[in-house]
Amino acid sequence: GFSYYCTASAGRERTLIAVKPDGVQRRLVGQIIQRFEQRGFKLVGMKMLKAPEDLLSQHYHNLQKKSFYPYLLCYMTSGPVVVMVWEGFNVVQTSRMMVGSTNPAEAQPGTVRGDFSIHVSRNVVHASDSVAGAEREIQLWFNGRELIDWDCCDHNIVCEL
Ligand code: UDP
Repeated sequence: GFSYYCTASAGRERTLIAVKPDGVQRRLVGQIIQRFEQRGFKLVGMKMLKAPEDLLSQHYHNLQKKSFYPYLLCYMTSGPVVVMVWEGFNVVQTSRMMVGSTNPAEAQPGTVRGDFSIHVSRNVVHASDSVAGAEREIQLWFNGRELIDWDCCDHNIVCEL
């Protein structure tokens, strides 16, 4: 749920952001990272990999019956992805806003999809859609040692508590 108050736990919310193969091919990784950094979020994990199919089938477990699913798997295995974990107050909801609608035709200008994509099957980036979903996806893509606990010097400037 949404809270205007930055409690200690809300301030440590985490989400999974992935630059999909089209975003990597188009050299958009830097610009996407920049948007999350400048917004005020903290990067706590990042890696590049060619995603294995079994990992993707778990990641997209809710879409396996959709007609586009085989094409989605093909797209997501077409090249490397860059997966990241970002932390900060309300990061799940805010990053969904920053990423924009699933269908780029409906994504607002100013969002990643609204600025960099035109078609739903090549929408550049992934962002977890709920706090529970984010926790599940982070466990799927990262092991605990890959997530870095660190204090960012501006933490108390961008967020109360
Ligand atoms: N997708 C697609 N065709 C569709 C709907 C979705 O290729 O008609 C792809 C698209 O890459 C999307 C992903 O499947 O980002 C996951 O879909 P979801 O509905 O979970 O959207 P998201 O959470 O990524 O916005």
